[in-house]
Amino acid sequence: MTLITNHLPTAELQALDAAHHMHPFTTGAELAAKGARVITRARGVWLTDSEGQEILDAMAGLWCVNVGYGRKDLAAVAARQIEELTYYNTFFQTTHVPAIALAAKLAELAPGDLNHVFFAGSGSEANDTNIRMVRHYWAMKGKPEKTVIISRKNGYHGSTMGGASLGGMAGMHAQGGLPIPGIVHIDQPHWYAEGGDMTPEDFGLARARQLEEKILELGEDKVAAFIGEPIQGAGGVIVPPATYWPEIQRICDKYQILLIADEVITGFGRTGNWFGSQTVGIRPHIMTIAKGLSSGYVPIGGSIVCDEVAEVIGSGEFNHGYTYSGHPVAAAVALANLQILQDEKIVDHVRDVAHPYLAEKWQALTDHPLVGEAQLVGLMGSVALTPDKARRTAFAEPGAVGYRCRERCFANNLVMRHVGDRMIISPPLVIRPEDIDVLIARARKSLDETYTALKADGLVG
Ligand SMILES: *Cc1c(COP(=O)(O)O)cnc(C)c1O
Repeated sequence: MTLITNHLPTAELQALDAAHHMHPFTTGAELAAKGARVITRARGVWLTDSEGQEILDAMAGLWCVNVGYGRKDLAAVAARQIEELTYYNTFFQTTHVPAIALAAKLAELAPGDLNHVFFAGSGSEANDTNIRMVRHYWAMKGKPEKTVIISRKNGYHGSTMGGASLGGMAGMHAQGGLPIPGIVHIDQPHWYAEGGDMTPEDFGLARARQLEEKILELGEDKVAAFIGEPIQGAGGVIVPPATYWPEIQRICDKYQILLIADEVITGFGRTGNWFGSQTVGIRPHIMTIAKGLSSGYVPIGGSIVCDEVAEVIGSGEFNHGYTYSGHPVAAAVALANLQILQDEKIVDHVRDVAHPYLAEKWQALTDHPLVGEAQLVGLMGSVALTPDKARRTAFAEPGAVGYRCRERCFANNLVMRHVGDRMIISPPLVIRPEDIDVLIARARKSLDETYTALKADGLVG
């Protein structure tokens, strides 16, 4: 038996892809006309496509391949676990060594009394778990009316009915009848786009206080939890003002609202600490994890839960679980991935080497005529494209310039994503200074080409 080889010519692969493969977040007709880029191989921070191009992956896949691509040690762990115990479930009072070891490891790594793990197959599933868990928690506490979960516009919490409802993406809510009942959204702490004339500090406080206003409007006895990403990822790498999270923490404490930190991107070193909650200084009751948990080598997610919530949930039967909760192969690979993060001191590398080296060059991009601001926390960063740097104005057709810049990046063999007119990066955490030089050079080249093209079209002065 061999791996499926990429033996067909690119055009034939693209034709089969267009004929049979439905892609997430893609206009099928557009892709069919253009042909998908076919990625065939990857090592470290580098992808290879079916035409033999070498592409620097500044997104770590989808924010997940934190230890870099192609690690033989992780492949060996997966192979050994498949031979030893391919599958067994964790329902009905059974368990297995990989799930035990991974849960114990996560309890050791997670701050405070976050000592218990409920496993899922993905971040979306874990957030579905969280919705049911926080509501059930309050019901068990004799407060079945506390059901509402407050979230944020432009937050991202996954693509299932629950995850997409928690998320605040208008385009997702518009399809499939979302959000589900009992989930409400307040505004995001996005100073650059929405802060107007306020200082970032005042704006951060004002946006946090919307949580208090919403709790008072709904009634404290109706609100179960607040959920947020410590730093919004898919919304455009939006770093909240420093005043925001401490105020959110104060409000959750005051009204006894459970705090859920969605750490799917920010967990496992992305922000220069093990968890984003540590970077922004909050003490969540539950953390959602996925992505970097396994560096994307296998699908796995979960909820890390504090003592109090776990104790209440555990005092009765929680009628919830997935066939693949704690899947032994996924758990074994995730555990080995965490071991790599520790052994190779990758979180220290992010904080002490990669972040400082990139931060200076990333910030310098603000000298470019298109770039209004640059933000970087650990190794998640964004630049805002604008026609008017002083006034922080948006382009007339939102997202069109970001899309054009993204296309230039692709042409220059750099994967950088666009969210509207923000260009974002989230490279593998193992990225070295010499790779960062390539990243910056290609990003600049792409920005320059975008600017030249916009000028030719009369879209900038
Ligand atoms: C990606 C993501 C999710 C969803 O995870 P999936 O594994 O795609 O289901 C949830 N929350 C955040 C913050 C994410 O970035």
